[in-house]
Amino acid sequence: MNRFRTLDDLTDVKGKVALVRVDLNLPMQDGEVTDLTRVEAVAPTILELSDAGAKVLLLAHFGRPKGERRSTMSTSLVQGAVSQVLGREVMYISEVSGPIVEQALGIMRPGDIGVLENTRFWPGEEKNDAEFARTIAENGDFYVNDAFSASHRAHASTEALARQLPAYAGRAMQKELQALEQALGNPEQPVAAVVGGAKVSTKLAVLEHLVTRVQHLIIGGGMANTFLAARGVDVGKSLCEHELTGTVSSILEAADKAECTVHLPYDVVVAKEFAPNPASLRTCNVREVAPDEMILDVGPQATEALADVLKTCRTLVWNGPLGAFETPPFDTATVALARTAAALSKEGLLTAVAGGGDTVAALNHASAAQDFTYVSTAGGAFLEWMEGKELPGVAVLAK
Ligand code: ADP
Ligand code: MG
Repeated sequence: MNRFRTLDDLTDVKGKVALVRVDLNLPMQDGEVTDLTRVEAVAPTILELSDAGAKVLLLAHFGRPKGERRSTMSTSLVQGAVSQVLGREVMYISEVSGPIVEQALGIMRPGDIGVLENTRFWPGEEKNDAEFARTIAENGDFYVNDAFSASHRAHASTEALARQLPAYAGRAMQKELQALEQALGNPEQPVAAVVGGAKVSTKLAVLEHLVTRVQHLIIGGGMANTFLAARGVDVGKSLCEHELTGTVSSILEAADKAECTVHLPYDVVVAKEFAPNPASLRTCNVREVAPDEMILDVGPQATEALADVLKTCRTLVWNGPLGAFETPPFDTATVALARTAAALSKEGLLTAVAGGGDTVAALNHASAAQDFTYVSTAGGAFLEWMEGKELPGVAVLAK
């Protein structure tokens, strides 16, 4: 963590203006915010700065307004939610720069909090425009990024702005970077990765990177079918990207060279129709899948063997469910392996880090998330980290 500047490196905050990039891209339904998780994540940073006497200006994007003002995507719609979570008054400011912001700062007392308008109302945001960033920076004394989930994009509020002011990682960003560093940067060996989910095509770069980083690569979900097909298994009607079997074969070769063991299911749960508890449900060896059957989950024997693999490891990084977990009983393998990982993590035997939209849902469904060392809610940014990429919004926070 000493690679990045954090709030611990800040001194003399009282009366200063903090420009804080947060993730306020909150889910809404009928004009109401339906989930406060993202606000809860950044609350510690905001409160810490406010308590230290800074004037805190929040910067965020909200939806995809494509460079123009759209009333349905104004941050005024999330102002109430932020105020509710913080338990403090939050002022809405209808600009991100210029005299309106200056006037607001004139009224604000040390410790006060304001939310600036949606950064994406200005075309300079997504263009990472230095001049646009400069106009924002004019009203601030320092910059804090607490939005890891937005930091894979080089936008003005995540990248250019960090070059204009002293820049620091907020507490949520710091936690996320620490967890990811522990999982993939400098992990305790041996390391296992679980990669599942629907398709190989969305995770090729992840797989190519992981084979060079981990000792055990566990493949599940729909993408396991493409791996099985590459090994000559007839996967019947299963979701399978047949055009990628060549690519998958090279990944398997690279794994071999790097001495990474790739674990594919050898028994599977199949059905003729994709529905809850279908009549055609059965478990079989991967070599026995009928032409009219689909593989929808990893089988019980393979799941047990995978649990044994985890027991020999010190670190686990997980992205993607092992089966079609939204439809029972195809959640069985995911739930079982998630609970094994959670138990090992709780006992202090395994550092377990997970991320991905559906992965978070699956771990919550298994009641396993709270015992993982860290669960990232960042979708795209988490995957890019797993690809070994340097995130532009993170790189600018380096010492
Ligand atoms: P994440 O969002 O965590 O990165 P993905 O979006 O890659 O995960 O994949 C999640 C989806 O993969 C889930 O909707 C799940 O139903 C689907 N899936 C998993 N296994 C299978 C399978 N064997 N056949 C079809 N779909 C599957
Ligand atoms: Mg997904």
